[in-house]
Amino acid sequence: MARTSRIPGFFKLSVGERRRLVAEATHLDVRAFEACEGRGLDVGTSDKTVENVLGVYGLPFAATLNVRVNGEDVIAPMVIEEPSVVAAASNAARIAREGGGFTAEADPPLVAAQVQLLDVEDAGSAIERIRAREKELLAMADAAIPGLVARGGGARSIEIRRLGTPADRMIVVDTFVDCRDAMGANLVNSVAEAIGDELAVIARGRVGFRILSNLCDRRKVKVTCRVPFHALKTDEMGGADVARGMEEGSRFAELDPYRACTHNKGIMNGVDAVVIATGNDWRAVEAGAHAYAARNGRYEPLATWRREGEELVGTLEMPLALGIVGGTLRVHPTARLALEMTGCRRATDLAVVAATVGLASNLAALRALASDGIQRGHMGLHARSVAVAAGANGDQVEKVASRIIELGDITLDAARKVVAELRAADPTSVAVAE
Ligand code: NAD
Repeated sequence: MARTSRIPGFFKLSVGERRRLVAEATHLDVRAFEACEGRGLDVGTSDKTVENVLGVYGLPFAATLNVRVNGEDVIAPMVIEEPSVVAAASNAARIAREGGGFTAEADPPLVAAQVQLLDVEDAGSAIERIRAREKELLAMADAAIPGLVARGGGARSIEIRRLGTPADRMIVVDTFVDCRDAMGANLVNSVAEAIGDELAVIARGRVGFRILSNLCDRRKVKVTCRVPFHALKTDEMGGADVARGMEEGSRFAELDPYRACTHNKGIMNGVDAVVIATGNDWRAVEAGAHAYAARNGRYEPLATWRREGEELVGTLEMPLALGIVGGTLRVHPTARLALEMTGCRRATDLAVVAATVGLASNLAALRALASDGIQRGHMGLHARSVAVAAGANGDQVEKVASRIIELGDITLDAARKVVAELRAADPTSVAVAE
């Protein structure tokens, strides 16, 4: 955890200054941050990691400030290409601090190894026979993952479900594996493959698919924040009115899957950015999140907001299978640095940080939608990337961005015109992109 995550004026500093302050706050060596420049995966490692490699693709690596969760400060790493997400999450985390920050709890890291059994004539007695052999099957599963067992993890329980109608003759055996500090996909897949054939023999059927489920609803995180109304006020609106609008926006998402989808996208802006920064599998996280959002038969928001007294209470609940060992972390130096920044010692702690940044992102989006609208803040920051796309460089970026904001025309055409004007005034100052 960080000494403090509150660093006023951080966004105005140079990249070098920011590195120094984050290194100081997280008790890390500033040289580690300097070294991460251009040090994602190198091409050689990439070539050994995936197939048909052409090069390495870079994305911005940034810090979310102000996060306080369970009484501790955290500077959360984010890797994301979308303007305004980092600023919005940092701003919302600052607002949440006024209510004491976030509180969170994570389930134990259980993930299911699924074995599909086919041609099962008598599902009822097959299920009984498998249950009777549970202890032996768990031991067989553990034997496939000795490293995990040595670290206190391993197969914990077996649950069996019939699928479809009797005509499908199909059952599924879910073996729950405690993955400790690993995301667990490879470990759990090993378990599924180790016990699949034996399960088919016991069930007197045929083994089908053997793989983990990414709907890890036994590995959830729950995050809450209580924000005093006054902390939500904007230049134009009182906090109580903003809180009412945010609750109404939450109800909108609860009642309409079209809104719930965008509501959850805003949450995943924060979650994914932390997940990617720390070298975790964001496709697995996304699949799990959206499957969980649809668990009641209709797509629903992962976070909801209600007014209680003079406070707005936000609650996020979602599955999150993250690792602090294995996977990409083995080879990616910046992912390792990002993980060190968080100070997380357990995979469950990292899940708490990612979910907290998700709830902060949701707070930011709902507050903007309940007051100024989303475009004002977003387009202001978006203007800088438009300026860069139009060919502005160095100090010119801020000049061009400010000018197109002033003109109320944040488009590539407008930015190109401003760049051309600046170039006419000082031909050496700006490189124009065609
Ligand atoms: P992994 O294969 O690297 O296994 C983790 C290793 O870390 C194990 O050998 C384990 O023994 C060891 N370990 C060391 N310290 C540990 C600790 N404290 N707790 C737990 N294990 C510890 O990684 P994994 O987590 O099994 O699998 C993750 C990878 O699998 C990701 O790269 C993911 O993209 C990929 N994957 C995902 C899916 C999916 O989600 N559907 C499918 C296949 C593969």
